Amino acid sequence: MSFTDATIEAITQISPDCKQYILSLDEAEFTGEAGQHTALRTDAGTKPYSVLAVDDDRISLMIRAYGTDGVADHMDARSVGDIVEVDPALRGSLTLQRTDTPAVFIGTGTGITPIIGLLHAYVTSGGPQAVFMFGEKTQEQLLYKPLLEQYELVHSVETRFSLSREDWHGHTGYVQEQLPDVSDTVGPDAEYYICGVPAAVVATKEKLTELGVPSDRVHTEGWEDAQVA
Ligand SMILES: Cc1cc2nc3c(=O)[nH]c(=O)nc-3n(C[C@H](O)[C@H](O)[C@H](O)COP(=O)(O)OP(=O)(O)OC[C@H]3O[C@@H](n4cnc5c(N)ncnc54)[C@H](O)[C@@H]3O)c2cc1C
Repeated sequence: MSFTDATIEAITQISPDCKQYILSLDEAEFTGEAGQHTALRTDAGTKPYSVLAVDDDRISLMIRAYGTDGVADHMDARSVGDIVEVDPALRGSLTLQRTDTPAVFIGTGTGITPIIGLLHAYVTSGGPQAVFMFGEKTQEQLLYKPLLEQYELVHSVETRFSLSREDWHGHTGYVQEQLPDVSDTVGPDAEYYICGVPAAVVATKEKLTELGVPSDRVHTEGWEDAQVA
């Protein structure tokens, strides 16, 4: 990896512990595509972060702070105009495979970040039918719900939010429990993209195997455990 300076152009609070950052390169350009990740190098260490969106010299990231004085907390303490060190070469195999068949995008927690980028790439390339599934614990942690509701209005996207620790008017339970219903809706040709905490990624892959979805249609990146990717 090689690192270069980027300026923080904007910071937006997305939930009580998550912020969105827009970083602009002072020199050089980003290479890569939606679904991939960069890395941030700080005094607290170096960690990978998926991109929400990427332009030639700008990316947006969404980072949850844990209060552990790690890289995420280092970012949480930054202000607009600060300089951070970023890898301009995006990496990772979680990329859009096809846009001529239905697609299911499944995220849990901050794993929603690359999944949003992939959904955007899919609908803007004319993808015919998308289901976007997002699992979190409580309503206040439902990231980007208004944005996704807009996608549902203007594109062929069905959104399904699922809460595991709060009763509400929407779906409850783990996100993978809805897969039998979703796989019936999208049919046998759909591609599946999954990102999130390793346990959720593993459980989702197992459910898809049970449903008879071929493994080459299932694309994953399990964070914090390279063996899951
Ligand atoms: C390919 C890839 C892409 C990623 N993309 C993103 C992204 O887009 N956004 C994002 O926020 N993260 C993302 N991550 C995770 C990120 O790389 C870091 O692991 C995360 O920000 C924590 O780093 P840290 O140095 O702050 O944590 P550390 O201080 O090192 O903490 C260690 C770990 O403990 C866990 N932890 C600590 N406190 C808590 C807590 N209170 N609750 C739950 N867990 C806790 C966290 O999982 C953390 O990883 C990605 C990881 C990978 C592998």
